[in-house]
Amino acid sequence: MKPLKVLFLCSEAAPLIKVGGLGDVAGSLPPALRALPEKPDIRVCLPLYPAIKNLDLDLIPTASFELVHSSGPVLAEIYQGVVNRVPFYFIDGSLIASSRTVYSGDNYQDGLKFTFFSLAAMELARNIGWKPDIVHAQDWHTAPAVYNLHRVRKKDDFFLGTRSLLTVHNLPYLGQGAEPALAEFGLPAARGSALPEWTSRLPLPLGLLTADKINTVSPGYAREILTAEFGAGLEKFLMTRREDLSGILNGLDLESWDPENDPELPFNYSAAELKDRAKNKTQLQEEIGLERDPHQPLLAMVNRMDAQKGVDLVPDALRALCNHDWQAVILGTGDPELERSAKQLANDRPQVAAILKYDDSLARRIYAGSDIMLIPSRYEPCGLTQMIGMRYGCVPLARATGGLKDTIIDYHSSHREESTGFLFNQAAPRPLAKAVLRALDVYKDQRRWRGLQRRGMKADFSWEKSASKYLDLYNELSELELKIENL
Ligand code: ADP
Repeated sequence: MKPLKVLFLCSEAAPLIKVGGLGDVAGSLPPALRALPEKPDIRVCLPLYPAIKNLDLDLIPTASFELVHSSGPVLAEIYQGVVNRVPFYFIDGSLIASSRTVYSGDNYQDGLKFTFFSLAAMELARNIGWKPDIVHAQDWHTAPAVYNLHRVRKKDDFFLGTRSLLTVHNLPYLGQGAEPALAEFGLPAARGSALPEWTSRLPLPLGLLTADKINTVSPGYAREILTAEFGAGLEKFLMTRREDLSGILNGLDLESWDPENDPELPFNYSAAELKDRAKNKTQLQEEIGLERDPHQPLLAMVNRMDAQKGVDLVPDALRALCNHDWQAVILGTGDPELERSAKQLANDRPQVAAILKYDDSLARRIYAGSDIMLIPSRYEPCGLTQMIGMRYGCVPLARATGGLKDTIIDYHSSHREESTGFLFNQAAPRPLAKAVLRALDVYKDQRRWRGLQRRGMKADFSWEKSASKYLDLYNELSELELKIENL
């Protein structure tokens, strides 16, 4: 059988350009797929951002053509390169060349850039005569490609056999503000569809309406988005698509996140040598200005400062625990109000350090030197910090939601012998504080604690497992007969 041809569209891809978890997925999943025995021919499309032009990539000019826009034709220029053994197509054009950051915060401008990119990626496939079996889009930015495919395959033989998959990495980001941009590139509103009227021009809903299959980045989140609490107003519509909706947990880049070989750590260690881990803790306490004491349980939070992450619950929860022995380190940047309240806590309490910046190297030393990783997210499509925490022996304490619930086995559940962390239910300071108390109690028994750490360190979060699930989904899609009403 011929290998499947997959065109993978994304707005960011590590290590070239990364803003968040989506960048990690786009950087890791395609090479993991290519490494499978079936060797699917997956090729990645990425905007040629100015920051990428400055990298030392051997780019080969591959194609150029024009796209139709309401104010005149727009030139697209395509270059080819190879990153981590995966063929990449980089798409350039005036809308991309003028963008200084991946996301500008102005969704009209971003809508123009990403709609141009999405349509150019499809046109590229035709231009080079490479018929993809699957177009795999991510989030609202590349959802216009899915909507466009649905429209063109009605009349265009080239794409007749192509199926689409849309992965939702963060549902509430529907692409609000991008509506006129889609219209300017000739993508109309959906009329008389199952979508709520207010979403009928938005890129992500249009993609969700027309994708042959939809998936999210954890099975738990796939179920949650069918409810009013997590559905962003689309839950009723999503119920109409539940047969085509699934969840595949993201993997972790085990090479990059490896306490045995991480060059940023003062002392490397493995599950078998947890004694060496303790030396990282005292070094970290010194680095961030906390009292040097290997016996104090050290709580940590490494996060975007955003309401999604429940960062606002932490100061109140920790204040309620001030009669107990612990230290805490908060590393994060984002919402100024949340930053201010973390800083205030650190000013009031000598056992708290708040470092308000993005610092990958320090984050690694925090994972390696802290005992408990706090992740009180209100919602979490997948989440990486719990997986990194486990891999580094920093036991996660998280809200039981989405990917967090899928990856952490609670110590107080009926599976104590398999447990890897602590879960709590309600997004409020008291339940969080109570969960911390439970964890502190277990921490007092170091034998039990080491069991928790070792089980987490041995958990399998490899991309290989997730990549085979994606391949199964691609195969299922490629065999999918289109229903008459979809044509
Ligand atoms: P999201 O993609 O929603 O931000 P994830 O948990 O999927 O959340 O991924 C967050 C990633 O960003 C993790 O690798 C985490 O270590 C990293 N990170 C978050 N904030 C910081 C920070 N201030 N400094 C360094 N790394 C950070």
